[in-house]
Amino acid sequence: MTFNELNLKVGILSAIEELGYEQPMPVQEKVIPFMLSQKADLVALAQTGTGKTAAFGLPILNMIDANRPQVQALVLAPTRELCIQIANDLKNYAKNLRDLRIVPVYGGEDIRTQLRQLDRQPQVLVATPGRLIDLIERGKVALGAIDFLVLDEADEMLNMGFKEDIERILQDTPETRRTTLFSATMPKEIANIARRYMKDFEEITIGARNSGSDNVEHIYYVSQARQRYLALKRIVDLNPDIYGIVFCRTRQETKEVAEKLMRDGYNADALHGDLSQAQRDAVMQKFRIRNVQLLVATDVAARGLDVNDLTHVINYNLPDDVEVYTHRSGRTGRANKKGVSVSIIHSKEKFKIKDIERMLKKPFEQRQIPNGLEVCKKQLFHMIDRMQNVEVDEEQIGAYMTQIMKQLEYLDKEELLKRFVSLEFNRFLSYYKDAEDLNIPENREQRIKSKDGYGEKKKGKKTGERVRLKMNLGEREGLNPKRVLGIINDVTGDKSISVGAIEVTNKFTFFDVYADQLDQVVKAFAGQDEVLLSEAKSSKSYSEKKQDRRSTEDYRKSRRTSSPASSAKPWRNRERNRR
Ligand code: AMP
Repeated sequence: MTFNELNLKVGILSAIEELGYEQPMPVQEKVIPFMLSQKADLVALAQTGTGKTAAFGLPILNMIDANRPQVQALVLAPTRELCIQIANDLKNYAKNLRDLRIVPVYGGEDIRTQLRQLDRQPQVLVATPGRLIDLIERGKVALGAIDFLVLDEADEMLNMGFKEDIERILQDTPETRRTTLFSATMPKEIANIARRYMKDFEEITIGARNSGSDNVEHIYYVSQARQRYLALKRIVDLNPDIYGIVFCRTRQETKEVAEKLMRDGYNADALHGDLSQAQRDAVMQKFRIRNVQLLVATDVAARGLDVNDLTHVINYNLPDDVEVYTHRSGRTGRANKKGVSVSIIHSKEKFKIKDIERMLKKPFEQRQIPNGLEVCKKQLFHMIDRMQNVEVDEEQIGAYMTQIMKQLEYLDKEELLKRFVSLEFNRFLSYYKDAEDLNIPENREQRIKSKDGYGEKKKGKKTGERVRLKMNLGEREGLNPKRVLGIINDVTGDKSISVGAIEVTNKFTFFDVYADQLDQVVKAFAGQDEVLLSEAKSSKSYSEKKQDRRSTEDYRKSRRTSSPASSAKPWRNRERNRR
């Protein structure tokens, strides 16, 4: 299909030709004819970077009446950056259309500038929800003449807590409007919004539903929690041309990882919510123009960033939510380029990988964390490649050649190469000399695997300095090895506690912890009234309160009479969450 077949105005066709677009992208082939010829609403499942803006923008610009100085089209977007980008794209598409005005309004910038822009009476408004409501309440924007409403990255807007704002805005627009909703994923909340606010809508999917791009390879490395950073460095070093985002869970972790990388000589920077808008803009700009190779970021802070040619996305920690993983990994493998989504996980998180594999319907490959030798080889040959391909400025260098040749004439070719390579490479060689193997030895990993993937000691294998504990909760209380791990994580608040050989019987649960973590576990569980922890095959109870040493029968009685939900009882919270 060509753009000429799409019944667009000449002014629009000439603009996209000037932009160098040769043919419509798949989302455009589907959405443009639909919007131009049908009156129905539309839900389109499409990832960022697939050409969505032109897909909704071109038909809307085609249908706007430039002689009517009223807001006829409203595009809602989750972030300031996306808002600016959409407005700029639309301005480019509309540059040959007379009297068509497009104005972006978004938070984080002086409202007075935007008020002046609104005085120009735009026909198209691109807005973030919060700022738009502010402007509506000041009486500066009226949505009564809206013909077209676009909700872009609707799932992101809900993630960012804009649900009520969106509903409020929708109520201000006329019933006769046509609504188009774009989302990368289709959580229940989006389906609800579509059902409530959209009429007889069509649903189209670009690419497989809920799955990331086919251009993305998903790989993971299993590392001990305390060696996560070292594993990250190896992965980065194995990919000398990496241009990627390292996703962390918290601002604190983001700062720490970025600081360590910078201190260790990497071209990295941090993007998180503690930075001012101006600082964030500066970091994003440095990253966009590739002055920064690795951006360490939280999910929230990275939302505004739209970069199309990332080679890697690194999950320094796996997100809890599969949809967050989809968003993260969808940032690479765009615009027909290959991308890699890397996750560094703890062996206890393999079940999460399985969950994501199921949702994405994509296989994940486990790789061994590279050893020093592999990293050095990769770096070395990368340097040799660079040397082969470097552009030599004969004129400039020629002036010095005679002197250089003279000075080095006593060295043969081999010696010369060795010296040049060492000059660049000694730092690497010395860092990786005697570098330890960061992979968890197979037998240790097996100890924390069970029949269904989580527990059960290998027969005849010693637990070393491990202590076996018994807990007075079992299958009757709905426990399984995965939930036991969750409880231990929640009660101790420490995911680095190494738990092995979990066995859940009807009434009890047994598991191993390392002796040096025993105290921490025991102390944490002492604060849990209803759980008794004791050393297995020993009468020694770790419950601090003597009166709490009840039989399992006593315990069950007390559960029946106690309050149904308490935040101090994580196993209950989990039950509630599952519903
Ligand atoms: P979007 O998903 O709207 O952010 O678009 C992703 C990128 O693709 C942007 O840089 C657009 O300028 C570009 N783009 C959109 N449509 C086309 C097309 N038909 N041909 C080439 N590039 C396009």
